[in-house]
Amino acid sequence: GTPLLEVRDLHVEFKTRDGVAKAVNGVNYSVAAGETLAVLGESGSGKSVTAQTIMGILDMPPGRITSGEIMFRGQDMLKMSNEERRRIRGRKIAMIFQDALSSLNPVLTVGYQLGEMFRVHQGASKKEAKAKAIELMDRVRIPAAKERVGDYPHQFSGGMRQRIMIAMALALEPDLIIADEPTTALDVTVQAQVMDLLAELQAEYHMGLILITHDLGVVADVADKIAVMYAGRIVETAPVHELYARPAHPYTEGLLRSIPRLDQKGEELYAIKGLPPNLYKVPAGCAFNPRCDAATDLCRTEVPALHQVTDREGAELAGRKSACHLWKETLHG
Ligand code: SF4
Ligand code: MG
Repeated sequence: GTPLLEVRDLHVEFKTRDGVAKAVNGVNYSVAAGETLAVLGESGSGKSVTAQTIMGILDMPPGRITSGEIMFRGQDMLKMSNEERRRIRGRKIAMIFQDALSSLNPVLTVGYQLGEMFRVHQGASKKEAKAKAIELMDRVRIPAAKERVGDYPHQFSGGMRQRIMIAMALALEPDLIIADEPTTALDVTVQAQVMDLLAELQAEYHMGLILITHDLGVVADVADKIAVMYAGRIVETAPVHELYARPAHPYTEGLLRSIPRLDQKGEELYAIKGLPPNLYKVPAGCAFNPRCDAATDLCRTEVPALHQVTDREGAELAGRKSACHLWKETLHG
């Protein structure tokens, strides 16, 4: 069927005093209802800019969409009327950010802020809105919701605040949630709890979920598929377990090696050499080549296409692509 959301060949650039930064350079990805896509990359990879473009919260200017399509249920959002686009972004797609404290209003109770969704969008009375707020707080398992509905954001822990953000996103029962580093500010055990909750609610509501993260470790258990971004491009896509078991791109290999493991105590943690790319001066050829141990002359001159990945016998591996000239050696070598 038609994917819920499909980004097609999206290009976004920023014009600043330092020149033109190609933040998003031909990104393609899609997510279906009930599916979780993790978009993985370092800062400057274009993962957040892509999400902000979908949500219409990109600063324009200096940001500019130079080409591409953002299809929501088969219709290009970039060609819709402002009103139609606003309706989709307000009700059908919700976004969760990293920093709940700056997304919530510090002088209003969480109950008021949750209830506001129902007052504004559904004309609920004050009493109805409060009841809905409590129901939502229960849903995201905030203990003693009835007693805490009148509390202010600062009275909650970081993990509980992030649950409130999830409740806020769920309020209007959207088709799609985009979560940009939703657990990055939390400590590790709380991260896992919040991630599990998000995954559970996503399945329950049969929503699409796009999880944007720099941390391969936190999405392993919840994502169905992964798109790895580097310097504004997708460099690898794969079903999550296949990507972990057998990456087809040296950058993904490096990311996997950098995940701390329990059985690795004492050993020094691996880090990919070099710095994330400078978007004003993306290297010629494969953007990853200055950091790649496998780089050849071809890598320094020719941009690798996003190849369909095949097994040793040449049969296509579903959903697997790699933008590496040496993907075969990387995967099968
Ligand atoms: Fe490394 Fe070349 Fe592959 Fe880029 S194309 S990841 S430089 S081997
Ligand atoms: Mg970001």
